[in-house]
Amino acid sequence: MPFSSLGLIPALLRAATELGYATPTPIQSAAIPPILQGRDVLGSAQTGSGKTAAFSLPMLQRLAAGQHHTPRRVRALVLVPTRELAAQVGEAMRSLAQHLPEPLRIAIAFGGVSINPQMMGLRGGADIMVATPGRLLDLVAHNALKLASVETLVLDEADRLFDLGFAEELGRILAMLPAERQNLLFSATFPAAIQGLADSLLRDPVRVEVQGAPGTEPAIVQRAIEVDANRRTQLLRHLIKESKWERVLVFVATQHAAQTVAEKLYKNHIYAVPFHGDIAQGTRADILAQFKDSRWDVVVATDLAARGLDIADLPVVINYDLPRSPVDYTHRIGRTGRAGETGVAISFVTAESAAHFSLIEKRQGLSLPRERIEGFEPTEAAVAVLEAVAIAAPTSSTGGVKGKRPSKKDKLRAAAAQAAGAPVVDVPQD
Ligand code: AMP
Repeated sequence: MPFSSLGLIPALLRAATELGYATPTPIQSAAIPPILQGRDVLGSAQTGSGKTAAFSLPMLQRLAAGQHHTPRRVRALVLVPTRELAAQVGEAMRSLAQHLPEPLRIAIAFGGVSINPQMMGLRGGADIMVATPGRLLDLVAHNALKLASVETLVLDEADRLFDLGFAEELGRILAMLPAERQNLLFSATFPAAIQGLADSLLRDPVRVEVQGAPGTEPAIVQRAIEVDANRRTQLLRHLIKESKWERVLVFVATQHAAQTVAEKLYKNHIYAVPFHGDIAQGTRADILAQFKDSRWDVVVATDLAARGLDIADLPVVINYDLPRSPVDYTHRIGRTGRAGETGVAISFVTAESAAHFSLIEKRQGLSLPRERIEGFEPTEAAVAVLEAVAIAAPTSSTGGVKGKRPSKKDKLRAAAAQAAGAPVVDVPQD
């Protein structure tokens, strides 16, 4: 199906063509027509499948049709969970909007940088605001914008925005929006725990779930390598050198690990840099830009980098530490294999993490063969544990993986959401 059959105006078709979008991706074909009609949409499609344009193109068209700049009144609000994603989504939208006959003002706001330029930028009003929740609330508190005229709300990485960390802020923002509006929720993952929240936000939604079509699904080869925990950095060095990978995103569990693993690689002449929430915002932006320009070989990141970031030509993602949950696993590995490219996602499995990995596999419906690399085979004691886990898996208990049963965190989240006036999470009891 060509882009021209989706009902988009020539200015948007031209922008899509200039960005190299020859045909719509499946999520675009499915989501653009109902969004153009003003329907609420719950869009679920794999990482890297073109979700940003799927909601941006029709939203831009609807806004372009009814133009009226009113100072400090925003007409479309796009909420995202991370600063990097705010910049990425806002820039993507500006590119898509560039040929509209009457330009739309697209503001981008996120924390970690001075609020003043963002306030100045809003002086002439903004049609679209792309923001992280905390900074948006700061701007509202400074009277820099009003949300009472929002016609369209987009929650990108919606399930993450329903998480505990955002529940209170999201509740406050929702309370400022007019009840009459279009709601668009997009993510690659919609865990059962947030279905209730999603449903209570949406009005008679069109559910668009795309599992990929030939040629468009991210082709991610997933591998699991057994190794002793204390030899992971050496194995990583070995794999990077052996395989001649030029750009590798390595996920670790803590900021401290990001620092130490990056330092060890750097000392061994691999250009590696840490990336985590304790690094200044300007530096974070520089690191990502430099990584995209191939000036770093390896970025060693916490889960801060797991969501939404679009790094073209990223062939390899490594789970040096395993993610906490199957949902995080999906988002981490989704940084590779984007927009029809291929990618490899490798998880290091140690005696300590083997049971957890089996549970992630089970939830993902996966059963990966365990590999061992010559010279990095686990010790005999570790092999005994790994083999015992392999025999017990995958039918072992479900404890330990986030999201299955209502955890303390789930309950706190529900309480925070309720306190903020947001709908309460429907926590599954399975
Ligand atoms: P997203 O899932 O929105 O982060 O998009 C992933 C990547 O796919 C981005 O680099 C987009 O520029 C690219 N992309 C989006 N739509 C299309 C399309 N129709 N054809 C080719 N590439 C696309």
